[in-house]
Formats: sequence, structure tokens, C-alpha cells
Amino acid sequence: MQRVLCANASMMTGPGTNTYVLGEREMAVVDPGPAMPAHTDAIMQALSGRPLKWIFVTHSHGDHSPGTAALQALTGASVIGFAPPQDALYQDASFTPDRLFLDGERITCDGFTVQLIHTPGHVSNHVCFLLEEDGLLFTGDHILQGTTPVILPPDGDMRDYLASLEQLRELPLQALAPGHGDIMHEPAQMISTLIRHRLRREQKIVTALQDLGPATLDELVVQAYDDVAEHLIPWAKKTLLAHLIKLQRDGRASADGDATGAATQWYLQRD
Ligand SMILES: [Zn+2]
Repeated sequence: MQRVLCANASMMTGPGTNTYVLGEREMAVVDPGPAMPAHTDAIMQALSGRPLKWIFVTHSHGDHSPGTAALQALTGASVIGFAPPQDALYQDASFTPDRLFLDGERITCDGFTVQLIHTPGHVSNHVCFLLEEDGLLFTGDHILQGTTPVILPPDGDMRDYLASLEQLRELPLQALAPGHGDIMHEPAQMISTLIRHRLRREQKIVTALQDLGPATLDELVVQAYDDVAEHLIPWAKKTLLAHLIKLQRDGRASADGDATGAATQWYLQRD
């Protein structure tokens, strides 16, 4: 497997988007990245003349999928992934899989097999790809190295995110290949750490609701994310809202108005 790192490093993409190139004779690519001609050229170079048959796309965010069209036009590869949700934020609406794919579906490639694992949470159409022969999971933005993904409600969903993580625990994994950052070699430990991190954050939000409630998102984020750098607070607010919506669905918190409203007050549900 080769990794082609895109030159789109930023606050949201870390060192840049990873594009993975699989195979020996007939090739597959995971996440073509943004529509940047230099990156498409780099992928074509990694293929070094071998035919590209399959393009796997974890989700339709701007740093993962828009390069698909150019790569498909150059190679005629099949595009595998889940279609973008309607009306969701930050979506690459141009992304079009070749057909409707299903959770658990297995794609037989030349010498290897890739299983689709639907992992909603970061966004609803997120899918991880399991390279079965190696127990290697391509995690897109579901599991990142060195940071935790933003959950973007209402399309992104914290309850789904945690359930998706739990589901991955059942797989025979050897390593995780994230959309951003380096390969991780202790998948079970990484997944447990992520779940623990989310539950600890949830507890911090419950404490903030106890101390400050009824309170707005702006008031709650200061206490519940006091360990997060100030420039990341706008993103922390999105994940805070995802946590609050989960607490609301769990029957533990309530809002006095529309969940996404800036003036909406959140409070703990007393039983
Ligand atoms: Zn993303």
C-alpha cells in the first residue's frame, strides 16, 4: 500500500488528506482528496501506468471526495461510497457513487477484498473500508490520528458516532489507516480511548449544565471545553451541540427552543 499525502494541510485537515493506493496489477484508491490537479497527478504517478479499477470514498467532505471526478475521468474506475446527505453542511454535492452500496457489502478486487462498514456519526454517509486480508481499516474522518473528529449536527450524530465505534470493536483489526495522520497499530486500544474520551466530555458537559444551567451553547462551551484552544472553539461548539442532542435523546437534558438556536437555553432533566 502506498500513501499519497495531499498538500492541503490546515487547521481542519492536520498534515493534509491521505490518499491510499492499493493493489499490484489492478489498483484501487481510497479517498482521492480535494480537486487539486497536483494531487491527482501524484496519485496517477503512484499508479505508474497500472489500471485503476476502484475508487473508494469514505465520505463527501471537501477534503476527501472532490478529486474523484478527475480521477474517474482519467481512469474509468468505479466509484464506491455513500451518496451525500441532502441539505447537510460542508458537503461535496457533486459526489456520485456508481450505484447504491450497502453496509457490509464486499467488493472483490484483484488479489484483495474490501468490505464496506457504514459508520455514521461524523456525517451520516460516512463509511470505513476494511481491507480483509490485512485487517487494515481505512477510517476516513471517523478515527483520526492525533485529534478527534468534529461531529456536525444535525447530519452528524453523537449517538451514531459512539455506536459506530462500538461496532468496529467487533472487527478483526490489525491497524487503522486514517484520513489524516499516520497509521495506528493498536486499533482496539485506540477505539477504547476514543469512546472514553467522548464519555468523559459528556460528563464534563453534564457538570457544566449542573453548574450553569439553564445556559446557552456559548456559555456552556467555556466550561465544558476549557481545555480547547480558543481558535478551535467554533468547532467545539458543533461537537458540544452534538453531545447536547445526544443527552436530549437520552432523556437527560432539555432545550427551551430549537436545538440549533444561539439563544436556546439548555438544562438538565430532573427525574
Ligand atoms: Zn470529514
